[in-house]
Amino acid sequence: MSTMPSFSPRRRRLLQGGLTLGLSGSLAWAPGAESWAAAPPAPPLSIAPIAMSRRVLPNGLELIALPQAGFSVSVQVWYRVGGKDDPAGRSGFAHLFEHMMFKRTRYMADEQFDRMTEDIGGSNNAFTADDVTAFHSVVPANHLEPLLWAEAERMSNLSVDQANFDSEREVVKEEYRQRVLAEPYGQLFNAISSYGYQRHPYRRPVIGNMADLDAATLQDVRDFHSNYYRPDNAVLIVAGAFDPAQLDRWVDYYFGSIRRPRDPVPRVDIVEPRRASDALFKLTAPNVPLPAVLLIWQAPRAGSPDAPALQVAQGLLAMGDSSRLNESLVYRTQIAQSAGFDLLLNADAGLLVANAIAAGSQTAQDLVDPLAHEVQRLAEEPIAPEELDKVKAQLLTAALVKRQTPLGLGEVVGQAALLRGDAASANRELAALQAVTVADVQRVLRRDVLKGSRVTVLYESAAPPAPTASKDKQPATGGSKP
Ligand SMILES: [Zn+2]
Repeated sequence: MSTMPSFSPRRRRLLQGGLTLGLSGSLAWAPGAESWAAAPPAPPLSIAPIAMSRRVLPNGLELIALPQAGFSVSVQVWYRVGGKDDPAGRSGFAHLFEHMMFKRTRYMADEQFDRMTEDIGGSNNAFTADDVTAFHSVVPANHLEPLLWAEAERMSNLSVDQANFDSEREVVKEEYRQRVLAEPYGQLFNAISSYGYQRHPYRRPVIGNMADLDAATLQDVRDFHSNYYRPDNAVLIVAGAFDPAQLDRWVDYYFGSIRRPRDPVPRVDIVEPRRASDALFKLTAPNVPLPAVLLIWQAPRAGSPDAPALQVAQGLLAMGDSSRLNESLVYRTQIAQSAGFDLLLNADAGLLVANAIAAGSQTAQDLVDPLAHEVQRLAEEPIAPEELDKVKAQLLTAALVKRQTPLGLGEVVGQAALLRGDAASANRELAALQAVTVADVQRVLRRDVLKGSRVTVLYESAAPPAPTASKDKQPATGGSKP
């Protein structure tokens, strides 16, 4: 169980006809120097739309069924609750609660989910992101019914006691120590949202902080469950091998009787303002091997029609060894040991984040201009069609591979439904990706990077701690937070 990787960075009844996407012939094998003739051009790739049916139960639960030939099935429940919904002073709560959902219910023992999935050769996991918390299992197809029962059971009958709560809170605190405090760049990457967002609750890291976790009470847990874990705040996605009529009967039987609370689901309505000016922050931590830098710009929300162009920009800059940042900062000038560019698109607002970790004797400040220059260059200078085609083909291939498993297929549609507000957009995103032009990439980068305000975060090692410092104390983070 985890928060979504914070740095790497997750309907309609009928679908439009199949789309045909052209994969450029320039991707074909280059002819060798010997006797090979030119490779024949690849024919256009024909991609069938995702078979999808959707309905909403009277209690508000949305069911999305994604039949796919095979022998396994993925059951996923996506709740519209994430880090942005953490109560004030309870940062990290949605994630903590994700863990609680694996504890006992009225009719299930602690960790029974593992018995019902892993013990039969399946798997289960969950993640918490800024906007959503999703639970997903994969089991042999003949185990679908028990899994539906189990998901309905923990939606409606979770029983939380103090002992369970205390033990799970310790697990989450340990996760924080490992992922944030012990990782050399954990504190830097965990701080992205705090520096990138100004007002929106996205600015609180999903994993929370020790003080807020310590302050949580059993009553907070119970309130959180009744506020957000309810049928009208969930989307049940079933992908893989199943009989559609049988699925409908089981879903009605196990989920149909779950009561919809009378009170509306609490919603965040804070709008992130446009950043007015550049900002610079300096962070220190005790265990930083080499200096690092982040450059953060504002980006549109996940559902923006510009998202595909930004995805391509991300690929050009940072996907694979031959990407621009790698080629320039790591191989050619060798000022960085690694460099990346991430697109963090949430339901309400997003961020673009360039990063570099120094090589040799570079300071964090030394990395700023070369890193910024590569991003600006992409916005301003010509982009070779072959470079664009290669990245688009890589993105398309990765997307298609993901759709080939019930788990991946369900995730693709879940992201479309909950982050973009339209499950059917999963059937348009590949065509949109293929339609991205050089002009699109440069238009969005001009708007978001060249004309946008930038936050620069320099990250360097703090002086060694004084010998009298308590070893239990959380390492202090220097600098000022916005
Ligand atoms: Zn976790």
